This record gives sequence, structure tokens and C-alpha cells, in this order.
Amino acid sequence: MSQGTLFVVSAPSGAGKTSLVRELVDSLNGIQVSVSHTTRKRREGEVDGVNYHFTDIAEFEAMAARGEFFEYARVFDHYYGTSQRAVQDRLDACQDVILEIDWQGARQVREKMPEAVLIFILPPSREELERRLAGRGTDVHAVIQRRMQDAVSEMSHFDEYDYVVINDDFTTALDELRALVISRRLTAATVCKRHTPLLEALLS
Ligand code: GDP
Ligand code: ADP
Ligand code: 5GP
Repeated sequence: MSQGTLFVVSAPSGAGKTSLVRELVDSLNGIQVSVSHTTRKRREGEVDGVNYHFTDIAEFEAMAARGEFFEYARVFDHYYGTSQRAVQDRLDACQDVILEIDWQGARQVREKMPEAVLIFILPPSREELERRLAGRGTDVHAVIQRRMQDAVSEMSHFDEYDYVVINDDFTTALDELRALVISRRLTAATVCKRHTPLLEALLS
């Protein structure tokens, strides 16, 4: 039985999930982001092994055939996947793990690990989503248009998640995310797993 909690965060591209998740893990102990594998090209400023493990299609497909992915999916014509190892070792070591993945991946996680906590991040409006995608300055116009088109279908899955956070004011959204992680850590089931020696000492 895993001792840490697996959190899944999904959002349409540009809604702010990467920025929110980065601040979240910087402000809390005991939670780490899993670094996904992807076949998409590295953006300027992205570092292999930090933002993603950048792989080619042949290597990705070989990993998938060997069953090394906890989940994987095709998003925007690229493959994205979470390796099994990136998740299970940390959960077993009592660390919480957060996955930034799309809705198809979230569904696979729900099947495999029903106790995972699924969080969807929505932008405050379509206009603001487009502004953020353009303002980020990492994607060319055609890529932004493609991501805007796909945003609606991604967002239509929000009701498959346990929680929804609207990223209007960044600090408020961050507080809400942090509250979700902390409240999960305080559930009786999680306390039982994390504080077994204390409970044994108190109850013996
Ligand atoms: P960004 O979200 O705009 O920064 O764009 P990315 O290229 O980083 O991610 C594209 C899409 O792939 C998003 O919907 C992510 O949630 C999804 N994604 C990233 N990594 C993974 C992964 O390991 N597995 C799955 N299933 N989806 C992923
Ligand atoms: P995602 O990972 O969901 O694609 P990012 O974290 O890359 O999104 O955020 C997209 C852009 O929007 C970034 O330039 C980021 O600084 C900006 N951003 C994120 N959250 C907010 C917010 N609440 N208000 C204004 N800008 C934001
Ligand atoms: P980007 O290419 O902008 O970094 O990411 C695009 C989308 O891919 C994001 O919505 C992100 O959530 C998704 N994504 C990133 N990594 C994974 C992953 O490992 N698995 C799945 N299923 N989706 C991912």
C-alpha cells in the first residue's frame, strides 16, 4: 500500500498549471513533481531531465512496449507519459507525487489508483487563456491556435475530477491547491499510513 498520495493536475495548455505546481512544491515539504517523458521538441529554456525527459518516438514506443509507463497518451500529436519508476518509488518512500498530465492520462490513473486525488485547473475566461498562451512566448502562432482549439475538449472533462480550481488570481489559486494537499494529508486514512509508530505508541 503506497504511503504517499498521488495528485493529478490537468488543465488546458496555458491555464497556469506548470506555474502553480512549481510554486506549490516550492512551498511545501514532502511533495515532488514527476518529470514526464515526451516526444515534443524542447522549448527554449526547457532543460532535459528537469522539465521533461525529451525522447524520440522510437524510444518512447519501446518504453511503452516494455510496460514502463504508469500512464501515457497522445496530446497535440506528441506522446507524453509518466514512467512507473517516477511514481511508485516516491509514494513508497512516503512522498506525495504530483502529475501534470492531460485528461486521458488522468483517466488511466483513476483506473489504476482510485485513491489518487484529481484536480482540474480552469482559466477565468477564453480570452485570458489565449492571452496567457501568447504571453508565455514559447509557442508560435499556429501552435497557439491548435492549443486553443484543443482547450475546449480538454476542459469538457473537468467533471471527471475531484476538485476544480479557477486560476484567476494566482495567489488565491495557489492557496486553494495548497489547501487540497494539506487537507488530504490530514484525512484519517492518510494519518494512519504516515504515523503508524505514533498511533501504535498512543494506542498500546
Ligand atoms: P503546456 O501544458 O502548455 O505547458 O504544454 P506541454 O507541452 O508541457 O503539455 C502538453 C499536454 O500534455 C498537457 O495537456 C499535459 O497535461 C500533457 N502531459 C504532459 N506530460 C504528460 C504525461 O506524462 N502524461 C500525459 N498523459 N499527459 C501529459
Ligand atoms: P500551463 O502549464 O498550464 O500550460 P503555464 O504555467 O505555462 O501554463 O502558464 C501560462 C502563462 O500564464 C505563463 O506565462 C504564466 O506566467 C501565466 N499565468 C499563470 N497563471 C496566471 C495568473 N493567475 N494570472 C496571470 N498570468 C498567469
Ligand atoms: P506542453 O507540451 O505544453 O509542455 O504540455 C502539453 C500538455 O501535455 C499539457 O496539458 C500537459 O498536461 C500534458 N502532459 C504533460 N506531460 C504529460 C504526461 O506525462 N502524461 C500525460 N497524459 N499528459 C502530459
